[in-house]
Amino acid sequence: MRILLSSSEVFPFAKTGGLADVVGSLPRALLGLGHEVTIALPYYRCIREKGIAVELVAEGVPVPLGGDNLSVDLYLSHQPGSDIPTFLVGYDPFYDRPELYSQDDREYPDNLERFALFNRALLEGLPHWGFQPDILHLNDWHTGLVQPYLQEFYRGQDFYRRIATVFTIHNLGYKGYQPKDKFPTTGLPQEYLQHHLLGDGDGWAMIKGGFLAPVVNTVSPRYAEEIQTEEFGFGLDKDLRRISEKLYGVINGIDYSVWNPATDRFIAKNFSREDIAGKTECRRALQEEVALPQRDDPLLVGVVSRLSKQKGFDIFSDIASQFIESGAQLVVLGSGVDRYEDIFRKLAGKYPKQCSATISYDRDLAHRIYAGCDAFLMPSRYEPCGLSQMISMAYGTVPVVRAVGGLADTVINLEDADVEEIAKVEATGFTFTEYSGEALLSALRRCLKAHQNRELWQKLSDNCFAQDFSWDESAKRYVELYEIAARKM
Ligand code: ADP
Repeated sequence: MRILLSSSEVFPFAKTGGLADVVGSLPRALLGLGHEVTIALPYYRCIREKGIAVELVAEGVPVPLGGDNLSVDLYLSHQPGSDIPTFLVGYDPFYDRPELYSQDDREYPDNLERFALFNRALLEGLPHWGFQPDILHLNDWHTGLVQPYLQEFYRGQDFYRRIATVFTIHNLGYKGYQPKDKFPTTGLPQEYLQHHLLGDGDGWAMIKGGFLAPVVNTVSPRYAEEIQTEEFGFGLDKDLRRISEKLYGVINGIDYSVWNPATDRFIAKNFSREDIAGKTECRRALQEEVALPQRDDPLLVGVVSRLSKQKGFDIFSDIASQFIESGAQLVVLGSGVDRYEDIFRKLAGKYPKQCSATISYDRDLAHRIYAGCDAFLMPSRYEPCGLSQMISMAYGTVPVVRAVGGLADTVINLEDADVEEIAKVEATGFTFTEYSGEALLSALRRCLKAHQNRELWQKLSDNCFAQDFSWDESAKRYVELYEIAARKM
C-alpha cells in the first residue's frame, strides 16, 4: 500500500510530545512491512534551525483559505534516520514561529487558520509531490479538516477518488474547539456546523472532522472505551458512541533504536537485561548531575512529563511532602503550565537533598532519568496511551501509574498476594484507580516497600525489561485498519 501519514509534529523534525514519537516511528515499522510510506507536516522554523536538508518542489501554489488564495511553497525532505520522503508545507507567516502551537502559555490566536491551511495545502499538494496515496493516515485535531475537504472539494477528481482515510485520536483533550463565527474561514459549507458533523456545543471542533473518516482509532484499547463515557469524553462521548462501530484501539509502540539502554549514547554506562551493572552507574551519575546525594539506598523516582492538568500532578502535590519524608528521592524534568512547574520548584526548594526539579524540555536528560531511576511516576488524570511508562520499562525502571487508558493496558500491578512466590511474579509496576492523593500515596508506599525487598525489586525490574513494546504488532494492526478503510471506498 502507498501510505501518507500526516501530523502537526513528527520526530525528529518537530516535537512537543508523544504524538511526534508515534508519527515519527510508525512509518518505519510500516516500511519494514513492505509498504511505501511518506510523511507530511508544516515547514516550521525549528526544522530550518535543525539544518535538515529540504528541496523546493513547487513555489507559490495557491491554496484557498478564508475566501482568499494564500501562496504556499511545497518542499520535499527526508526523515533523518529513516530517509522516508517527507512533504513540508511552507507558509512563513504561519509556520516560521518560535513554537509549534503557543507562546508564553498562550495559544496562537490563528491556530485555526494555520492548520486549516496545512490541511487544504496537503490535498492540493499531492499531485505536486507526485504521490497518490491509497491511505491518508490523519492524526489529531490539527488534521481534522482533511476529511471534510477531501469529500467536499476533491473527491470528484480522478486523482483523489480512491484515497481512503484513517483518523487517529491521540488525545481527545485537545479538540481544536472554535467559535461559530470563525467557521467561514474553513470554506466548508455551513451545514457542517450541525452537531452530527462538526458542531460542538455553541461552536465547533476541528477534531470532529476526523470522526467522518471511514475508520477512526485511538491509541489504546482501554482509551477507545473510556472516550465513549462522559468522564473521559470531553463532551464528545455521544459522538464517539455514535461511531463506535468504526472506532478501534491500537496501542502505540516505542522506537527501540532511540530507547535502548544497551546502545543509548546519552547515558553514563550502557546496560541491558542480561547485564544490569551499568544501571547502578547511571543512577549515581544522575544523582550527581541533578545535585542529589549519591546514596544507594533510597528509592529514586523519576518524572519526565509535560506539566499539564492531564498528567495528575495536582494529586501528587497533595501528598508529595509525605512521600518525600518517607525517604525517597525525586528527579523531575518537565515544563508546561506555571502552576505545575511551581509545585516542583517549591518541592525542590523545600527538600534540596531529596528532590531536584529541572523545568525545561531536555531530550538528553530525559534519557538519563529513564536509565538512572528505580521507579517512574505517571499519576495521569487520563492517558490515551502514554509512552513514558513504556520507555521507563525498556530501561528496567518500574512504573507507578494510575490505571487509566494505555497505562492500564501496559502496566501490570503488583498484588500483595504475588509476593508469596517471587519467581512467579509477573507484575511490572504499581497501579491505583481512584484519582486522589490518598490512592496515589498508597501505591507509592507499596512501591517503597517492594523496593526494600531486593529480590522482589530485581524481579519487577527484570519483568519490565522483558516487555515488548515494539511497533511490530501495532503496525500490523494499523495495516488491518488501512485495509478496512480501503474496502469502504
Ligand atoms: P504526551 O504525549 O501526553 O506528552 P507521552 O508519555 O505519550 O505523553 O510522551 C511523552 C514524550 O515526550 C516522551 O518521549 C517523553 O520522554 C517526552 N518528554 C515529555 N516531557 C519532556 C521533557 N520535559 N523533556 C524531554 N522529553 C520530554
